[in-house]
Amino acid sequence: MHASAGGTANPSDLDAHYRSRSLWLDQLESPLTPRPGLGGDLDCDVAIVGGGFTGLWTAYYLTSLDPKLRVVVVEREIAGFGPSGRNGGWAVGGLVGSPAAYGIAADAERRDRALQATFAAVDEIGAVVAREQIDCGYRRAGALTIATTAPQWLRLRERDSPGGGGRLLSSTEAEALVSVPGLYGARFSPHAARVDPARLVRGLALACERRGATVLERTAATSIERGRVRCVGGTVRADVVIRATESYTTQLPGERLRYLPLYSLMIATAPLPAVAWEELGWRDGLLIDDAHHLFFYAQRTADGRIAIGGRGAPYRLRSPIDARNERDPAVRARLQRSLARAFPVAAQVPITHHWGGPLAVPRDWSMSVRFDRSSGMGAAGGYTGHGVAASNIAGRTLADLVLGRDSELVAMPCVGHRSRRWEPEPIRFLASEAIVRTLGAADRHEDATDRTATRVRLLAPFLPPH
Ligand SMILES: Cc1cc2nc3c(=O)[nH]c(=O)nc-3n(C[C@H](O)[C@H](O)[C@H](O)COP(=O)(O)OP(=O)(O)OC[C@H]3O[C@@H](n4cnc5c(N)ncnc54)[C@H](O)[C@@H]3O)c2cc1C
Repeated sequence: MHASAGGTANPSDLDAHYRSRSLWLDQLESPLTPRPGLGGDLDCDVAIVGGGFTGLWTAYYLTSLDPKLRVVVVEREIAGFGPSGRNGGWAVGGLVGSPAAYGIAADAERRDRALQATFAAVDEIGAVVAREQIDCGYRRAGALTIATTAPQWLRLRERDSPGGGGRLLSSTEAEALVSVPGLYGARFSPHAARVDPARLVRGLALACERRGATVLERTAATSIERGRVRCVGGTVRADVVIRATESYTTQLPGERLRYLPLYSLMIATAPLPAVAWEELGWRDGLLIDDAHHLFFYAQRTADGRIAIGGRGAPYRLRSPIDARNERDPAVRARLQRSLARAFPVAAQVPITHHWGGPLAVPRDWSMSVRFDRSSGMGAAGGYTGHGVAASNIAGRTLADLVLGRDSELVAMPCVGHRSRRWEPEPIRFLASEAIVRTLGAADRHEDATDRTATRVRLLAPFLPPH
């Protein structure tokens, strides 16, 4: 990590340090000066560790539902420092987890209710953005998953199900939304919105403060316990303590194997000229990904760039979460190839940014939201790269659980869900390496032969149960 949180650091060094984390943080207008940190002990009703989407949505709904509640968010760096300020900006509906892992594979009604709740989260984010006037380029224009080989097209058709919230498009129908060479077909889902994640998460922090929450920055929690959070600089005592540190949870005592920290990396182009957008025919706000195993996800940004990401290289065995994992020449080159293949006109435009961050993958790839009333301890995370919308559900659910509200959300399958821990190193590391290598090799095989690669089956022990 950079200079230890809570210490003194030069404001302009810190500003540069935070901006270098992503295109989005880099583009924020106001200086990234941390809010004051904890300067002694503090009492409150709810202490939340982590100032990303999960922590801030939880604080937002708690203070909205009970304005008298004293809510304190403790953030080691600045709000949005983690993946919440770095992601692809896909606020997209869809179950984050495996129906089998949740035990609802045979319960169509519960599955459908859970799915509908994820769709509603995309709209709920839009409603908060409008209410709180958060200028984050929110645009709900849907998401298009493109297939450019026969195996990809087969996978899209196999994954499509009635009631899944999307529909398959022929190549001609898809080309009306964006022009991509060699399209076999695509799947369109209307339940998706584009956002600038840093503007959203930073705007959310301000909205929480307007509602009376306290956000402490440059305040590292060293242990999260019943009734208190010990921090560098003091202790926050609270009846309720919520852990919202997603992949960073693995740095806390006893939590190393809770998640596999898988890196996702991105690049962004300079703004494209209007004529290039015309050639692409890419409808503003439409999110685009593809059906490679190592798929890309892309957005047309509000200022006319393409920001495109994909899975990163395996993490370092001894330091799974490390700033050195945030950039990788091979992944950058792969993303540039994806960009050039899908959007050839953009290949001429310079790449201005390259960045990344760690996703939290639970052993069964299924998110969880937990609150134990007797100890007052709660947590949410494990979104496997889909936390933008899922964290909104998690935040609302945690608020309902803490306040004892008997809502539909508290009956969601992810509530109380427990995933078993990952195997100890080096198995977890080898699993991460196998996932990235095998999926990459399968993609190369399918691109070259137009035939389905069967080697992906070898990964079954490490992928979500069906
Ligand atoms: C490159 C990339 C692209 C992605 N793209 C998408 C996408 O397009 N759509 C999508 O849905 N999801 C995407 N994701 C995943 C998504 O960003 C995450 O699921 C989501 O942001 C998780 O939010 P969070 O608040 O739970 O965790 P985080 O954003 O990780 O926030 C946790 C916070 O806790 C703080 N913290 C950690 N340890 C401590 C401590 N000891 N004391 C105090 N504070 C601490 C951290 O500094 C951090 O700010 C992407 C992720 C990455 C990395």
